[in-house]
Amino acid sequence: MSEITLAGLEKRYGDELAVEDVSVTIDDGELLCLLGPSGSGKSTTLRMLAGLETPTDGEIRIDDEDVTDRPAYERTTATVFQDWALFPHKTVLENVAFGLKMQGVEKAERREQARTMLERVRMEEYADDDPMNLSGGQKQRVALARALAVNPDVLLLDEPLSNLDKRLSEDMQIELREIHADLEETFVHVTHDQDEAFTLADRIGIMADGKLVQVGEPNEVYQNPKNRFIEGFLGDTNFVEGTVERTTADSVRVDTELGREVVIPTTNGGADALAEGDSVVLSLRPEALSIESAADADGEAATQAVRADGSTTNFVVGTVENVLYRGSTVRYSVDVEGTSVFAERTVSDSGEFEAGDEIGISWDGADVLAFRDDGSRVDL
Ligand code: ADP
Repeated sequence: MSEITLAGLEKRYGDELAVEDVSVTIDDGELLCLLGPSGSGKSTTLRMLAGLETPTDGEIRIDDEDVTDRPAYERTTATVFQDWALFPHKTVLENVAFGLKMQGVEKAERREQARTMLERVRMEEYADDDPMNLSGGQKQRVALARALAVNPDVLLLDEPLSNLDKRLSEDMQIELREIHADLEETFVHVTHDQDEAFTLADRIGIMADGKLVQVGEPNEVYQNPKNRFIEGFLGDTNFVEGTVERTTADSVRVDTELGREVVIPTTNGGADALAEGDSVVLSLRPEALSIESAADADGEAATQAVRADGSTTNFVVGTVENVLYRGSTVRYSVDVEGTSVFAERTVSDSGEFEAGDEIGISWDGADVLAFRDDGSRVDL
């Protein structure tokens, strides 16, 4: 059992606050991904967990034991680094056995355990090779086997896949998930790659400017982002500026730069949270937008009342600016009253529009998220 608690964790480098007031409990056996842009404090947080950096403030508990001041070698954690950090003058097997040697495990026993670990990562046939002759993906497997060989309670992974090409990284993500499911150990995995975090994580902790801004299951943070930064960071979206025109008992009407008001149904008192004249930024995810030929669209009829099921249809007309094929989807960039809006379709049902075509874009107001000027989300 290894539950980790970070409480008010802080790290200062001179005047710079690299990590600020990070508090979270990571459950026993959980795979938590720390996700955020470069410089947001992910690595520093992980290195404090590993005992490689000393916090300036706050506390780290593993299994209810305060380990804040304990050095790395006295912790039950093992770390896999981005650059693999393999020893060049040792064979693959010696690399994997190294931690066991440090623990005083006798030679035959540690070679046996190291072999078992190499089998787990499908590298047993390279046991006697020089690790420097291996490919990036193979080095990463050896680094993983070396970390797992000491049987840690907590495995810490610091951008371990970011030196691999996309395809290899995706394969390794699936393998890591399987190894995690197999071992039932607690994993903390640092990445700046949203797709990687969504594939791997039980929960994602989003970091920005040294702070842990939201922790939740992948679909929860994607569908229910706490602020505008998270909404923009987790996927492509259209941010549209507007001003609240009117609030009613069951809707908010926003005058937008799309030249038409957007009607958003409210269920959580959103109408009370906003007042006429408030400026807001709306997020329209491309996958929530439907497009059709403007000639087919009945735009006028499609506006405006909130239906019994809580949906509204919003509708604008625009001109296709360009068409971008992205593998299984096609992305249309559409000029709407001077604002570019992009919408996506799967390849199978697209192909009918080209640059210059006039098209209608419609969406359900219930899919729209709204943010205040300070970036905070409006609970609609
Ligand atoms: P991330 O892992 O999210 O890219 P880091 O934790 O590496 O972010 O860095 C967070 C901030 O702390 C950055 O601004 C970085 O420049 C700073 N930082 C990290 N390590 C050091 C260090 N050893 N000395 C000074 N500043 C550092």
